Parts: sequence; structure tokens; C-alpha cells
Amino acid sequence: MTEQILVAEGFFAETADGPRLLGSRCRSCEAPCFPRSALCRNPDCDDSQMEETHLGPRGTLWSCALQNYPPPPPARYEEPYQPYAIGVVDLDEGLRVVGRMSVDDPMTLQVGSDVELTIEPIWRDDEGRDVMTWKFKPL
Ligand SMILES: [Zn+2]
Repeated sequence: MTEQILVAEGFFAETADGPRLLGSRCRSCEAPCFPRSALCRNPDCDDSQMEETHLGPRGTLWSCALQNYPPPPPARYEEPYQPYAIGVVDLDEGLRVVGRMSVDDPMTLQVGSDVELTIEPIWRDDEGRDVMTWKFKPL
């Protein structure tokens, strides 16, 4: 099996229940946030009592954009370049997050469709390891 590394630490994890985003939730007002934060993002809340929480896996595709040309550095991608979609997803927890879409043909994506969090490779590094990130896959 190909060795895997995470594109960034502290943003997502494969848990016993499946892939999850690593977020925070305010104990005072219940507002979730991603990525983790020491401060509550709710402008009406002045009592930041944050605790770590898992977010996902289900959500609804709110919007998406096609990355039709290779992104500039420091972004990386597999050669030859394949256009991909970036989705904006409303998680069931009441939080809007961004992630790459896991779909063969980005033109088939439908705003409003149900999606699920997944952890997949985005490129292979110089040492032959799969670099993993979170994505959203239509159900
Ligand atoms: Zn709060």
C-alpha cells in the first residue's frame, strides 16, 4: 500500500466513525467553527468557551466553482492537470465550509445535492507518498 501523509495537520482525521473535520464548538452558544479556534466566531457571543468537536460527514452542496487551469504555486497538482471543482458545503452541523469535490466529471455537480466527507489523495509527493486531504463526494 502506498504510504500516506496529510496535506496539513489538525484539519481532518479518519475516526472510528469515518472521516471528520476537526472543528471547535462554543459551549456557551453552541456555534461550531472550522478550522479549530480558541475564539467563538458568533458576533453575538462574548463568551468564548471553545471545545474540540468532530464535524461531518454529511452536508449539502451550496455552491461550487471549476478550477479550469492549474493553480499558481504553492498549490500543487498531478500531471497532466485535470480540472477539478471546489465546493462550498453546508454541513448538517450548521457550518459552511470549503473543500475539493470528489467527482469524475465536475460538470455533473448539482447545487443542493447531498454530499459526504471523504479523505482522498490530491497528489503524490517526490517520495511517492499520497498526500491526503478532505473532499466532498456527492451521494
Ligand atoms: Zn459562542
